[in-house]
Amino acid sequence: MSKHFDPSTTPLLSLRGVRKSYGKGELTTEVLHAIDLDIYAGEFVAIIGASGSGKSTLMNILGCLDRASEGSYFFMGEDLSSFDKDALSKLRREAFGFVFQSYNLLHSLNAMENVAMPAIYSGVERSEREKRATKLLSELGLEHRLAHYPSELSGGQQQRVSIARALMNGGEIILADEPTGALDTKSGTEVIALLKKLSSEGHTIILITHDPKVAQIAHRIIEIEDGKIIKDPEPTKVQEAKKIEILESHNSLMARLYESTMGAFTSLRMNLYRTILTLLGIVIGVASVIAMLAIGDGAKYAVLERISSMGTNILIVRPGMPNTRGSGDIATLVPEDAYALNAVDNLIAAIPESRKSVTVRYKNNDQTTTLNATSPEYQVVRDWDVVRGSFFTYEDEENIAKVAVIGQSVAEALFKQKDPLGEFIIIGNILFQVIGVMEKKGASAFGEDQDDVVFVPFTTGNMYIIGQRHIRNITVALDDLTQMEQTEEAIRQLLLQRHGVEDFRIHNMASLLENAAQTQGTLTILLGSIAAISLLVGGIGVMNIMLVSVTERTKEIGVRMATGARRSDILEQFLIESLVVTALGGVLGVIIGLGVSFGAEYLGTPIYYSLLPVVLAFGSAFLTGLLFGYLPAKKAANLDPVQALSSE
Ligand code: ADP
Ligand code: MG
Repeated sequence: MSKHFDPSTTPLLSLRGVRKSYGKGELTTEVLHAIDLDIYAGEFVAIIGASGSGKSTLMNILGCLDRASEGSYFFMGEDLSSFDKDALSKLRREAFGFVFQSYNLLHSLNAMENVAMPAIYSGVERSEREKRATKLLSELGLEHRLAHYPSELSGGQQQRVSIARALMNGGEIILADEPTGALDTKSGTEVIALLKKLSSEGHTIILITHDPKVAQIAHRIIEIEDGKIIKDPEPTKVQEAKKIEILESHNSLMARLYESTMGAFTSLRMNLYRTILTLLGIVIGVASVIAMLAIGDGAKYAVLERISSMGTNILIVRPGMPNTRGSGDIATLVPEDAYALNAVDNLIAAIPESRKSVTVRYKNNDQTTTLNATSPEYQVVRDWDVVRGSFFTYEDEENIAKVAVIGQSVAEALFKQKDPLGEFIIIGNILFQVIGVMEKKGASAFGEDQDDVVFVPFTTGNMYIIGQRHIRNITVALDDLTQMEQTEEAIRQLLLQRHGVEDFRIHNMASLLENAAQTQGTLTILLGSIAAISLLVGGIGVMNIMLVSVTERTKEIGVRMATGARRSDILEQFLIESLVVTALGGVLGVIIGLGVSFGAEYLGTPIYYSLLPVVLAFGSAFLTGLLFGYLPAKKAANLDPVQALSSE
């Protein structure tokens, strides 16, 4: 501000040729016509006029809440036309204090908080604010009403609270628009006496009234009629006026965020049900993203694990043309093919397998199961141990021995708790001696019980039960996985050489794994996107509620702006409110999503936990708040203070 301002020669406030018109084009109506007005520091001025004469419009311009359509406004000798909105809000904050006919207290705050509010925007610390607000209220006789909310105070008390608020940041210039208009005579008299006292303490007072009796208290009474000043006595020069200092408020980001967050909690508590409903949208969105991804990934890894439990180093050669599907019945592979393959490099083993569905009997128990006629190296190829006894040997195979190794499911079905080793079981009509029990393997990738099986030597199975030379498949275990392709090609060439035509197909576990991972991944993405959509819907809910909230609280925004809030303060306040909702919803959603996942896991669904979906879901909720909160917050920040104040 002007360093050379001399209050005895230069008016504190000075209007020159100020006009204010509303509307555009032909509908324009001018409500203030070429106003010239000088007010000196320390004056007590009353502006009097009939209703609709333009008093409030004039006051809004004087208080930097509104701008003139034409003409100039000099504040301490400085032209305000070059001041931007934030510079004007700084002036309001540092120099002016407003007192309104309808008090305009914030209903969500108690008396002390209402008074302290303007100091938030000038960066005063909370404890300091509370101290000053308490002192001001005590001076105005309200020391026992600090924690009362506006609805618990009489009109006169509310007006005193609003005067205390006007003084919070200094209030060197008090603008009071019909301050007694809503009060009974006694309270009105008290308020007027209070203004007189403030005047005597050096505050510059501009009192607007339509009541000539009220105006009498002032040193100088200006009359206004139809937007023109019709009577304006000489300014009264007052020596001892309060000094106005326009200070830069250094309001740290952390302090501001803290204030806004506290404020957000207050206003969310005021609308508890609405807050809960809004939260619900976000909670459901976040929780479903987390649960869906956990379940989707769980299913994926369960399938992948089952496939890889069959061995990723395995190739399976089946009969059939490579470009036909499901032609496994074609009998082209013979056991010699399997033995011949052992000549190929990089093989652990190649074994023939023949299968048949059979009924196995032990005493009175029988079990329908799969007979697998294979070679002793089966164990190595499938990486599958016996828990009791041993697997059959080459000798057994050579001797066409009637020995069997049984899977866990068969062992349980036939023998219950009894030890099967050495017992005889009947397969077909043939008696086999049980020489081993396999360890439990569980379900296969395709959901079949791998333990429901009986192994017999290939030769024995062929001769007594299957009765044909052709085999179902050759299973090959590779040594070095990096050589997979070359080995597969070598096998192809060798078989091609033996058969003349390509009447076989080679299945590769690794590529099966890859396919399955892809399919399951698609499922996860699908589940994830459905959940993400619900999060989006939740976000739109937040935006909707915030827009309603801005509309409902337009008056509050106006009051905050009048007491000096910058547009960025308002933007921050509403943005943080929506962030608090979404962050709260995000945290609850994470907890519930993980809870649902735990529950599903408890009920037997495979679950895969990872940090990414949690971070992703919470992050999107937060981003949603930021994105969908921005528009309403922007709307709030761009409100015109005068219009906001006059809204109901
Ligand atoms: P007072 O405070 O003396 O009762 P106001 O300053 O509120 O009068 O209003 C002066 C005139 O300006 C009135 O005729 C009113 O209708 C008009 N007016 C005030 N605000 C607006 C507005 N936002 N748009 C159009 N006309 C307005
Ligand atoms: Mg008015």
